[in-house]
Amino acid sequence: MIVTEPIDFTGKFNPRRPKPPGHWMDMGVDERVEAVVGAGLPKFRARQISTNWFARSSNDPSSWTDLPREVRDQVAEKWFPTLLTNLRDLIADEGMTVKTGWRAFDGALIESVLMRYPGRTTICISSEAGCGMACPFCATGQGGLQRNLTTAEIIWQVHDAARRLGAGELPGGPGRINNVVFMGMGEPMANYRAVVNAIRTIHAPVPDGLGISARGITVSTVGMVPRMEQLATEGLPVTLAVSLHAPDDELRDEIVPLNKHFNVDAVLDAAWNHARVTRRRVSIEYILIKDINDQSWRADLLAKRLKSRGDFGWFHVNLIPLNPTPGSRWTASRREDEKAFVAHLECAGVPVTVRDTRGSDIDGACGQLAANLDSAEAEFV
Ligand code: SAH
Repeated sequence: MIVTEPIDFTGKFNPRRPKPPGHWMDMGVDERVEAVVGAGLPKFRARQISTNWFARSSNDPSSWTDLPREVRDQVAEKWFPTLLTNLRDLIADEGMTVKTGWRAFDGALIESVLMRYPGRTTICISSEAGCGMACPFCATGQGGLQRNLTTAEIIWQVHDAARRLGAGELPGGPGRINNVVFMGMGEPMANYRAVVNAIRTIHAPVPDGLGISARGITVSTVGMVPRMEQLATEGLPVTLAVSLHAPDDELRDEIVPLNKHFNVDAVLDAAWNHARVTRRRVSIEYILIKDINDQSWRADLLAKRLKSRGDFGWFHVNLIPLNPTPGSRWTASRREDEKAFVAHLECAGVPVTVRDTRGSDIDGACGQLAANLDSAEAEFV
């Protein structure tokens, strides 16, 4: 039994720790207007501020010349503290993959990964500093949970990437973000309120938010069933990805410890429900680990369990070759076992793809985010 702590579904901060500073991005549209009025400014300033921050992607209030100078100073101090400091960028795939290490106000370290493909750009973001889910194959899981991120800290990662891309600062020329995936550090459903609020602002049309289509947003979960059910009621047609990794409880109990609380059946039912309500296909994530979960009979069992929930059209299986974490006894499946696994799923009619492992040479691939930025580097920047 690995999960011994009660699971925190509340997303609350430990009251003994300092709370991250509040930010414009923590607020919804109405709250921003209220805050502006409360600060003695006319209502229309709220829209001006949002236009500068979200539409112009400018992170420097002193350059917002449509506001009087003293208002700029007031606004900067009140609502635009620096939440995350860029410690370093690691670049791979000829500049098309950039992993950024961030330090929060309290020293918490997180990472995000930007991946440019021909015609689209995806950012993989963190929802927590660390992760409490303790999956033994995942680098983040080994370090435990430090704390939840705030709404603004989550959006910050997307906003900053959008800003840098827009300004042409990153290799590959100017661009914009098309997809946001909650597949960085943390379990997004364990920080539910902040994550849903962040999605609302990431999705809200410019200038109220970043204007990224809900269809381009993917939330990945180990299977927190009550939160998956709740997410289906939010009216947000985001894509849900479920990290299944095993079709049987015996193995899943071991490799995804939360399975002891919510088993394979419960997780697949909640996934199916999400697909039905949102009309969005659910992605079933399945890491292939050599001789652990890659047997053909498990592919057959996976197909069977998906099929028992109706039409395969609602599920898509995404196979991920394991990225071994340092010191792990597990490695990626043999090529022939991977092929056989794919063939068994295809033969049963299950839509399946094998994911490319972008950024593995900079520890930026799935499950490798561990924020092992040492202190020397942290001080250097
Ligand atoms: N906690 C959420 C969000 C993190 S997503 C979740 O687990 O879904 C990160 C994705 O990468 C998940 O599908 C996760 O299972 C996968 N992953 C973790 N460690 C990995 C590793 N070492 N190799 C390949 N994929 C890994």
